[in-house]
Amino acid sequence: MTHRLSRFILSAATLSTLLLCHVTVNAAQQAQLSAINYRLMMSRPVSHLFEVTIEAALAEGETAEHLDFQMPKWSPGRYAIFDFAKNVQEVQAASGICPPDAKCKMAVAPITRLDNQTWRVQLQGSRSVTLKYKVFGDDLSGTFSQLDDRHANYNGASIFMYIVGHKQDPVKLRIEPPKNWRIVNGRTESADQREWQFANYDILIDTPTEIAPDWTVDEFKVDGKTYRAVVHSLGNEGGKRPQLVRDLEKIVRAETRMWGAPEFETYTFLIHFAADDRSGDGMEHLTSTQIIEPGALSEEEAYTGALSTAAHEFFHVWNVKRLRPVELGPWDFTRPLNTRVMWIAEGLTTYYGNLMLRRAGLWTDAQLMNYLGRLIGGIENAPGSRLMSAEEASIAAAFLDGEGHEQRTNLANTAISYYPKGATLGLVLDLLIRRETRGRASLDDVLRRMYEEFYLKSPKATYYLRGRGYTSEDFERAASAVAGTDLSEFFRRYVRGVEVPPYDEALAGVGLRLTRAPSARLPYTAGISLNETSMKLVNVRNGSAAEDAGLKQGDVLLSIGDKKVTGETWLEVLNRHKPNRPIPITVRRDRRTINATITLGGPDQYDYRVEEKPDASPETRALRAAWLKG
Ligand SMILES: [Zn+2]
Repeated sequence: MTHRLSRFILSAATLSTLLLCHVTVNAAQQAQLSAINYRLMMSRPVSHLFEVTIEAALAEGETAEHLDFQMPKWSPGRYAIFDFAKNVQEVQAASGICPPDAKCKMAVAPITRLDNQTWRVQLQGSRSVTLKYKVFGDDLSGTFSQLDDRHANYNGASIFMYIVGHKQDPVKLRIEPPKNWRIVNGRTESADQREWQFANYDILIDTPTEIAPDWTVDEFKVDGKTYRAVVHSLGNEGGKRPQLVRDLEKIVRAETRMWGAPEFETYTFLIHFAADDRSGDGMEHLTSTQIIEPGALSEEEAYTGALSTAAHEFFHVWNVKRLRPVELGPWDFTRPLNTRVMWIAEGLTTYYGNLMLRRAGLWTDAQLMNYLGRLIGGIENAPGSRLMSAEEASIAAAFLDGEGHEQRTNLANTAISYYPKGATLGLVLDLLIRRETRGRASLDDVLRRMYEEFYLKSPKATYYLRGRGYTSEDFERAASAVAGTDLSEFFRRYVRGVEVPPYDEALAGVGLRLTRAPSARLPYTAGISLNETSMKLVNVRNGSAAEDAGLKQGDVLLSIGDKKVTGETWLEVLNRHKPNRPIPITVRRDRRTINATITLGGPDQYDYRVEEKPDASPETRALRAAWLKG
């Protein structure tokens, strides 16, 4: 998935073996099935109700009293628990299977709701069963699904149940679209295709699909592979589509130059420009990506946003989808993900996604340096950086990955996101390896070596996909081997620990330096984060002046220094005051006005910049050129 920089304000091996065993044991208890067929209909788009039918038939000689159908609690690539079952309605079951277009009289099969994600259907002696339900979807995102009068766009995990113990079985899908709506996904082979065969449920839900009358498709080829840019524009394109396709090709060329040719024949960028939709999103899949960009293709911000998301998601073709943490496929959708390596899966992808914009020629050196300065600043200014390690952030993925919290939390003070944290570690690790090996090796080599060892050369460890997953220890070993030096101290202090990574040493290796100056925006410290629309305090920093003043989350800021403030003026008014002098401040809480006194502290927010070192040696300049070029 993609996280935007602006949103960053704020023993695994044994465990995974247990998870896999859990899945296998379940499967062994189940009767064999000879067929699992899904049908997806959308007869009334304005209702936002997808209609799903699942037919299952017992294999010859098998018997079973019941089959359990289960809705995933979450979806690969997004780790918050969303409980997709909440949008399921009108679940019905019948004994037998009725062929398409036939009229059948089928007996009702009794259903028991076992828990909040599972429906048990009694077979009552029948050798097959048909389950039908509707599922509501009106969110255009990489995680949810949307059906409305414009289109259908789904992420399979949010609409398709699996049969417990049969996630590994091959499945068939037939889609019946509204008249004149065309279907496209990363496994589409012909224009009018309506049926797909998938190796297992995990691949079925790895295939997000767009169904609409008016999407466009442009193709290009790189190394003999076909790339499709499918665009569904809900706003003005301003003639920018050809340029978008050319720039996507540059990204593909830069990333395949690093990794080598991918193993697929066709890859599909499914891109939505959706002016009125919520914040953008991107989601990685084996042969496609979903990109949802707020705004119109004609708008510069939406255009560059789509490319930056594409660079990130395409990098996931290797890092996460194929070279994957051992916990990431097959999945257990009954409990939250537990992995220590989201900082590798998402953080290194964040680092490379941006580096690739430079390598593709879409960013200048200055743009990359500017990004790296803001990236480091975002992490080093966050109080959670000194409390939560990259590994702990990974384990906390279910809390941090976009889940809403009904209760107030202190996460803004205690947590960091594994996206930017992992990206800073990627930068430092990459530059240290380049420095240590005098440019003979890099983090690129670590990832390539891992891809080869765990994906290409390892025997298939599960039903899900080729190769096997890696652990935190595997990555550490590979990094040390490529660096030619023992990196265990690095991992102890900066990955499992919360020490400030050696930015200066790493950047100096490529003739760069990091500078730090008190924040121009917040020269003195109040410790307040404000929602500038509602004027509510979204966070009060622990140990800050605002906390000393007795302010708390949810207070509505009214005035500073007896001057009424708005979202536009509060910072300017605040910054007129000097530290160490009491300033009257008023907030509204529980329908009362509260007068408090705040005394600003010295700077604790800094602007970080990555700059060229004036005295950089020719050798470090050469290392920098190699790093930027790839
Ligand atoms: Zn991602």
